[in-house]
Amino acid sequence: MEMIIRSCIKKRAAVFSVGAFGDRWYKIAQANNVPADHFKSEPGEPTTPEMVEQALKTGKYDVVTVTHNETSAGLMNPVHEIGQIIQNYPDVVYLVDSVSSLGGAKIEVDKAHIDICLSSTQKSLGVPPGLAVASVSDKAIKRAESVENRGYYLDLINVVNRVKKNYQYPSTPATPHMWALDYQLSKIIDEEGLDNRFNRHQKLADIVRAWAKEHFALFANETYASNTVTTILNTKGKSVSGLNDELGKRGFMISNGYGELKEKAFRIAHMGDRNETDLRDLLAEIEDIWGLKQ
Ligand SMILES: *Cc1c(COP(=O)(O)O)cnc(C)c1O
Repeated sequence: MEMIIRSCIKKRAAVFSVGAFGDRWYKIAQANNVPADHFKSEPGEPTTPEMVEQALKTGKYDVVTVTHNETSAGLMNPVHEIGQIIQNYPDVVYLVDSVSSLGGAKIEVDKAHIDICLSSTQKSLGVPPGLAVASVSDKAIKRAESVENRGYYLDLINVVNRVKKNYQYPSTPATPHMWALDYQLSKIIDEEGLDNRFNRHQKLADIVRAWAKEHFALFANETYASNTVTTILNTKGKSVSGLNDELGKRGFMISNGYGELKEKAFRIAHMGDRNETDLRDLLAEIEDIWGLKQ
């Protein structure tokens, strides 16, 4: 995130946020002295193509950042529809954070006109943490070439040139992670099949959403509910940290609400290599601990 927001901006970034990870883009821009404006949606609501169009019409921006899957809110933004607007602005570079969705939901970067789609290995790709991956368009490279002071370790152009030249990196990469990613992509994900993998994520999301609505409520507008993680409003005022203590004794764990949503909400992940049996076992344990069974 730091590499690309720093390398792609000559004028000003329009940073769209629907939660903690969207806000992070803005904090990164500020920390790097990159001019940026912060556009926040109402809690639980997406970044809309209309919001993006309104910002771009001002002519102030040459970069848009959007979080595809906001892991704090359990919300998936309509990145393809937003791309249809951005393509009308040829000078605008479109940066998308797909950290918690790549590998769990279909993202057609070319159709969506996404210039840089970045992700990380530890979420829906199901590989240990420590590696970031990205697709980079020629347009983004051209822009970055004209930006001064891109940094040293995080200079996008230096990395792109070295990779293009001989599949090397300017500094020593985390090679064990690359082997792990290669195995996951060519064995686990290829053998499952991409469409099967996306459908499994959809199915697990449907199960958790139905369960959430039966006992609690969804945090996000359901039209935009995430297929990789569900954020559930703690409408019954239960202790989430207490739940995790009990779940831990049984070999399970969930996530508390992120930041301000701590104890007000909790999150159930259904990403990576999760299967339906695991997920149903987890829900049954929660029902047992919280006395939700009738
Ligand atoms: C996890 C995550 C990140 C990166 O988080 P780190 O733990 O700092 O590596 C960025 N964006 C999203 C949407 C995420 O879910």
